[in-house]
Amino acid sequence: MFGIGLIKGLKTTIRAFFSKPVTIIYPYRKVKIAERGQGLIRLRMVQLDPPVFKCTACGICAANCPQHCITVKRKESQKQPEVYTVNYGLCMFCRICIDVCPFNALEQTQEHEFIGFSRKDFIRTKEELMMGSVFIEDKNNTITTNTINDGKDKL
Ligand code: SF4
Ligand code: SF4
Repeated sequence: MFGIGLIKGLKTTIRAFFSKPVTIIYPYRKVKIAERGQGLIRLRMVQLDPPVFKCTACGICAANCPQHCITVKRKESQKQPEVYTVNYGLCMFCRICIDVCPFNALEQTQEHEFIGFSRKDFIRTKEELMMGSVFIEDKNNTITTNTINDGKDKL
């Protein structure tokens, strides 16, 4: 029948006009990221006084990173990183660094908002990457976390 297509089109337009939008007004409103969402990778901390990095600066993550975006340098005579940087301008969030770490020292968070004005701004240092909580693992491999007072959350 003549005009049936027009009526169908109008029906779709009217339905869309009155239905709830699927988009949100970002950044004023935000969607909840799934628990297993793959965001920024952070360095786990161990409960000592003061808290220390779980990372021993062995360099295995850096050697296995396909994007070559991790730089690790060990502190002289200490199993702690002197330098630990991740270049998030290159990272593809593949999780290989987490999977190969023999010390379970990295954690993938759901944090996904990070901006910068130059490529340099995406290179995050160990101080910026440290978790704001300490990592506690008991004999049954149960993981809990405790907030640490001086945990800096700069990202
Ligand atoms: S593999 Fe783990 S312990 Fe070794 S440098 Fe990387 S994060 Fe640190
Ligand atoms: S998630 Fe992948 S690309 Fe990113 S730092 Fe880890 S190994 Fe490299």
